[in-house]
Amino acid sequence: MRVTTASYRQSDTRTFTLVVVGLGIGKQRQAEKHFIVPFSQLQVSIRLITSKGGKIKAVIPYSEATPATTSNVPSASVTTPVNQSAPPAKSGHADVPVNLYKPKEPFIGTVLENYSLLAPGAIGRVNHIIFDLSGGNLRYVEGQSIGIIPDGTDASGKPHKLRLYSIASTRHGDDLKDNTISLCVRQLQYEKDGETINGVCSTFLCDIKPGAKVKITGPVGKEMLLPADETANVIMLATGTGIAPMRTYLRRMFEPGERAKNPEYQFRGKAWLFMGAPTTANLLYDDDFNRYQSGFPDNFRYTKAISREQTNPSGGRMYIQDRVTEYAQEIFRMIEDPKTHVYMCGLRGMEPGIDKAMTEAAAAKGLDWSELRPQLKKAERWHVETY
Ligand SMILES: Cc1cc2nc3c(=O)[nH]c(=O)nc-3n(C[C@H](O)[C@H](O)[C@H](O)COP(=O)(O)OP(=O)(O)OC[C@H]3O[C@@H](n4cnc5c(N)ncnc54)[C@H](O)[C@@H]3O)c2cc1C
Repeated sequence: MRVTTASYRQSDTRTFTLVVVGLGIGKQRQAEKHFIVPFSQLQVSIRLITSKGGKIKAVIPYSEATPATTSNVPSASVTTPVNQSAPPAKSGHADVPVNLYKPKEPFIGTVLENYSLLAPGAIGRVNHIIFDLSGGNLRYVEGQSIGIIPDGTDASGKPHKLRLYSIASTRHGDDLKDNTISLCVRQLQYEKDGETINGVCSTFLCDIKPGAKVKITGPVGKEMLLPADETANVIMLATGTGIAPMRTYLRRMFEPGERAKNPEYQFRGKAWLFMGAPTTANLLYDDDFNRYQSGFPDNFRYTKAISREQTNPSGGRMYIQDRVTEYAQEIFRMIEDPKTHVYMCGLRGMEPGIDKAMTEAAAAKGLDWSELRPQLKKAERWHVETY
């Protein structure tokens, strides 16, 4: 057996390939299996494999190992689920358009529609805004963002700077005619010194009327792109307007008109949306997602965390991280599959809660999330956009 780990410290984040024979039944026992294991799990993995009758032929630093079909150690509790031999997700996205329009020469879009996405009784203001892109060359794909330059000037008399917004429509637009783009915008509003302050650009957009002209830049962003693989699994964690990119994925996956337009993308993996909102009335695009769930029950799962209406097991408010904790076993089982991608989008404040939930969930499986997350990131399977 070749073991080349001696010089690595405990804090080493490298991974190793265990080359194993003797597992399985019948002819399978002769077959060589490869397991990718983080350094911290190496000893326990070896013990577990040998206890199940496996013979370790070699332990090779991952970079030295020849790419091979890898599997999980018999008990999932000791392996990293990251298959680094899987092709990076972005490799299929080399032709993604970026920065077609820059702030000095923005595209001028025309507002077609602007309507509220909230039901009566909801908190705040969130609108869906559709722009006409006719007459230009503004192309984009699901998961990208655009910049909006609001009209007017700032306190020092200079033109306002652009604000980024996640695109909420697929590349084909909501009407599938390939010449519109949609946004999902929450009006920023907060109290300061007894005064209500309205965010400049979000208020500009929420108030805008059909027919108005708007300066648009971009598109930008490659972090949130959807894998081209129709059999990939996609776990989505969204709060509030963080649903925008998820809406684009789900429309591409399940909207009948989209499926008809994209013969090359007939999604048949598993998609699982976790959506966090304060009240039922604040759920965004809920009817569409329910429709996808009834139309594709084997492919789409929709789990809601409604903080002011539902309670978590400790009796507190139900946040998205509580749902992650609730379904931790299933989430991690999915993450073990190298075809699974996780997307997180919403207010920056959601990150620590999700991180804590993932840390606990990983620990319950004998894994260290602080080691695992960078590996998932490196494998381009952990996608985060918070603001
Ligand atoms: C990649 C990306 C994607 C985004 N996607 C979306 C999206 O899809 N939908 C969406 O609605 N937004 C999105 N945003 C956020 C968006 O870009 C703007 O930041 C947001 O709309 C606020 O801009 P504004 O001009 O209205 O606010 P501004 O007038 O710029 O005010 C914002 C400033 O107000 C201050 N402030 C904010 N809250 C408080 C508070 N509670 N107390 C005191 N001061 C405060 C802060 O200084 C903050 O910088 C995204 C951001 C990024 C980076």
